[in-house]
Amino acid sequence: MGSINGGEEDILHVMFIPFLAPGHMVPMVDIARLFAAGGGRDIRVTILTTTTNARRISSAIDRDSLSGHRISLLTLAFPFKEAGLPEGCENLLSAPTPEINFKLFHGIELLQPEMIDLVRTHRPDCLVTDYLYPWSADVAADLGIPRLAFSGSGFFNLCVADSIEANKPHAEISSESEEFVVPGIPNRVTLTRSQLPDIVKGEAKLSRFFDKLKQAERRSYGVIVNTFHSLEAEYAEHYRRVTGLKAWQLGPVSLFINRNFDDKINRGGKSDVNAENCLNWLDSMKPNSVLYICLGSLTRFSKAQISEISCALEESSHPFIWVLAKILKPNVEFDQVDEGKEQWWLPEGFENRVKQSGKGLIIRGWAPQMAILEHASIGGFVTHCGWNSIMEGVCAGVPMVTWPIFAEQFYNEKLVTQVMKFGVSVGNEVWSVWATEELPLIRGERLRSAVEVVMGGGVEAAEMRRKAVELGKEAKRAVGEGGTSSDELKGLLEEIRGCKSKRRGVEQVA
Ligand code: UDP
Repeated sequence: MGSINGGEEDILHVMFIPFLAPGHMVPMVDIARLFAAGGGRDIRVTILTTTTNARRISSAIDRDSLSGHRISLLTLAFPFKEAGLPEGCENLLSAPTPEINFKLFHGIELLQPEMIDLVRTHRPDCLVTDYLYPWSADVAADLGIPRLAFSGSGFFNLCVADSIEANKPHAEISSESEEFVVPGIPNRVTLTRSQLPDIVKGEAKLSRFFDKLKQAERRSYGVIVNTFHSLEAEYAEHYRRVTGLKAWQLGPVSLFINRNFDDKINRGGKSDVNAENCLNWLDSMKPNSVLYICLGSLTRFSKAQISEISCALEESSHPFIWVLAKILKPNVEFDQVDEGKEQWWLPEGFENRVKQSGKGLIIRGWAPQMAILEHASIGGFVTHCGWNSIMEGVCAGVPMVTWPIFAEQFYNEKLVTQVMKFGVSVGNEVWSVWATEELPLIRGERLRSAVEVVMGGGVEAAEMRRKAVELGKEAKRAVGEGGTSSDELKGLLEEIRGCKSKRRGVEQVA
């Protein structure tokens, strides 16, 4: 991809560097596209990423560019050989084992010097980078430009994580399963120690790494958050007060920028199913009748857990769309990373029965999640509580069955089930990145009864749906003309333009 020459001094150049995992990259690309759309001809946007990752997003960038927005991709090669990885394995999406994951993180680290060189060569006026790239705060400081950090999560999670780190309420608890209250946040929220991420429980090396990220964030100009005012107002205020950081709420970014059909069906990657067929099938279903199950882009399950889900879906009376989670294969060799069909396993006969009954669709690979969730027939969402999925479910106004697995997902769950109360938990108690056979199973019966609470006709279901629909309306208002997120985007663009003018003033005086 081409380089970008200077010479247009008055144009604001913003460079985005997303982290190489869907949950980080998908929303950051939306934000980059928002900047390009919101800044008119006076802004140009560059997204710096690796070759294979660029392919996942290039169609949206090409469309924006054709419609007159100044946005382009700047690519660099991923160091496969040096990282000991096979070609093409350059996103956490394609890391089937803990070992490969580790190598991938190493590969990403190896990219750093070249990324720094590219930033210095292209000299943007502002850097928007993932919080997992702490070095970018120093590069920005060196160049005298603002760095905006993006973590991909919401304010609620940031506040809960901050409180737990500062107060260590779990240290007072005698068992993994005893509940404790998260101190000092706007609502009463409870968690158990078994639901906390490993780093919180004292893996010193990891915790030093996260300290470094935090310090870099505090040295940054501010943070961008994919959220909107009515969803987390108190937490936005709490976060700003506790950290002293500037924070802009630009969400829901999915809704804000993806307004046409192509954007929606291929968001974050080309869909692996025929989206039209999928939507036609949904057209044939009654409003609010279909359950959508997707546990994110990185979840790996054991065969036993997949079996339990299959049983629940067969026994439940609700039609469904199930985006299959891949199975964990602990002994995959590096040259077998392309796992082919084997990565998706289903119990014998299940798929045929589903096909014959017409009760459901099974998706292997990348699903057009945004388009599916928006369909009026979707009536419930079984989610792992990745922040993007929560935001997309909120936009669509669907109540949720929450099934957090790792990362900050257990914290996010509590916003849905304990604070905003538009979802019910499936009852997972154990945080774990990899679904080893020793983990306790979520029994099919448990999933089925949680689905019944959300999709059944009871008072509780009606109340959760009412709340979800109301939030969906608020989300639409936030990104509409004069909405809170719309205004924050305008304000942010003004502010970084101001930084550029100030810098040029100083340069001219010098
Ligand atoms: N996604 C998608 N199709 C898929 C799986 C995921 O479009 O088959 C998108 C999803 O809509 C969301 C992102 O990928 O925007 C995943 O982010 P999230 O925070 O929900 O979870 P993660 O995958 O990071 O755990």
